[in-house]
Amino acid sequence: MTQLPEELRDIVKGTIDGLTSFIESECLPVEQKHRETLENEAKLFGDDGRLVPEIREARDEIRRKSAKAGYWAMFAPASIGGDELPALVSVYLLESIYRKYGAGHLMVGFANAFLTTPLVGGFVDGPSHMFAQANETIKTDIVPHLMAGEKTTCFGATEPDAGSDLWSLKTRARKVGDEWVINGTKQWITNSPYADYAIVFAVTDEEKYAKRNMFDSGITTFIIDTKQPGVDTNTIFPIMGHVSSDCGNVIMEDVKVKEEYVLGNMNQGLITAMAGISEGRLGISSAMVGLAEWALDMSIQYAKERVTFGRPLADRQAIQWMLADSAIEIFNSKYATLRTAELVDEYPKTGRLPIKEISIAKCYAVDMCQAVCDRAIQIHGGMGLSSELGLEEAFRIARTLRIPDGTSEMQRRTIAGQLLRGDTVF
Ligand SMILES: Cc1cc2nc3c(=O)[nH]c(=O)nc-3n(C[C@H](O)[C@H](O)[C@H](O)COP(=O)(O)OP(=O)(O)OC[C@H]3O[C@@H](n4cnc5c(N)ncnc54)[C@H](O)[C@@H]3O)c2cc1C
Repeated sequence: MTQLPEELRDIVKGTIDGLTSFIESECLPVEQKHRETLENEAKLFGDDGRLVPEIREARDEIRRKSAKAGYWAMFAPASIGGDELPALVSVYLLESIYRKYGAGHLMVGFANAFLTTPLVGGFVDGPSHMFAQANETIKTDIVPHLMAGEKTTCFGATEPDAGSDLWSLKTRARKVGDEWVINGTKQWITNSPYADYAIVFAVTDEEKYAKRNMFDSGITTFIIDTKQPGVDTNTIFPIMGHVSSDCGNVIMEDVKVKEEYVLGNMNQGLITAMAGISEGRLGISSAMVGLAEWALDMSIQYAKERVTFGRPLADRQAIQWMLADSAIEIFNSKYATLRTAELVDEYPKTGRLPIKEISIAKCYAVDMCQAVCDRAIQIHGGMGLSSELGLEEAFRIARTLRIPDGTSEMQRRTIAGQLLRGDTVF
């Protein structure tokens, strides 16, 4: 188990090599060109909290190129023209990219805790697994723009009074003639300031909603055009240590949607949401493993080079134990994530959704990465706190990711729920 099957070895190697060379030729030179702006948030964001036009254009350009080169939509479902690469491949790929490039790159990687990056689409911005449920109209009108990286989406579930508790949604959609009319506010929505479409979850059947059955929830998934009348995406929130972010509100006032823009089945929106959220949780786990490896690699190197009291830090047991603790946690997290990915890939055969394992992988990985980055900062002393090395940014990313895609408490709630239902297989 967790041994990369032979048929995937070439795919993983080829994709990592290809993506790395794409980053070197298309992303890093762009970062270099805009370095002064990227490193100074007073220049990076305009007065409205949005990225300044030159950076937005640079990001859009990389996304389109990545789509053309076959990376942006490589995990998208085959039914919409994606490569549908297995979950196991995604783990190796994201781990490897984050290990190599670490934190502090705004054009590399995938969505992080502060800004989405334009390389690989995820459920918060691109053609995700949720689109496996797309009907013909959505496939014709929307999917081609997403696949080409020309347009992006955002995922609107959370509301001011409904975060962990999606049974407190206030957003409602009512049928008027042959259209749906949506009212409500979505909050903390990644990519909302830039998304062309918002995937929003609204209650459509009060009776079903009151019964709290996740499989027949009374919630329906709609795709709305963010430029259409009644949609306001002007509010953007600063996130931990930054003056702005990609996260904002999607406010809907009498927003009209045609029946054809329902994604998935009526009243089964939570199933659609979980397809996206599960993909996101595994992605976060993989990125956290790679980011932690990057921080440990830096720590090992620094411990060998930095001399205090006449000897390298690496000679000191206090430092060695920090390195060893990080290695123990990374190993556990990496193999938990890989095994979870295997279980996800085996799902069509086994019919067993690894709900418990996805929560374990995400919950552990964010804690692990935060702890590893914390030790890395400590080993680097004052340098660890400087923004130059990116370690403090990695720490903030890990800390932030304990909240989105289900807080650590909600992951534990899910794990305990599964255990109590009898799922005690490890
Ligand atoms: C950077 C970022 C990006 C995000 N992107 C998106 C996005 O793209 N789309 C989207 O829909 N949402 C997004 N979110 C929202 C995110 O999913 C929510 O913030 C999260 O689900 C928690 O909801 P909340 O903030 O309302 O906190 P609450 O649900 O109010 O929880 C507050 C605290 O109480 C704990 N808690 C709540 N209930 C219980 C309980 N029963 N038992 C024990 N502890 C409990 C929680 O774990 C948390 O620690 C994003 C958030 C952030 C910070």
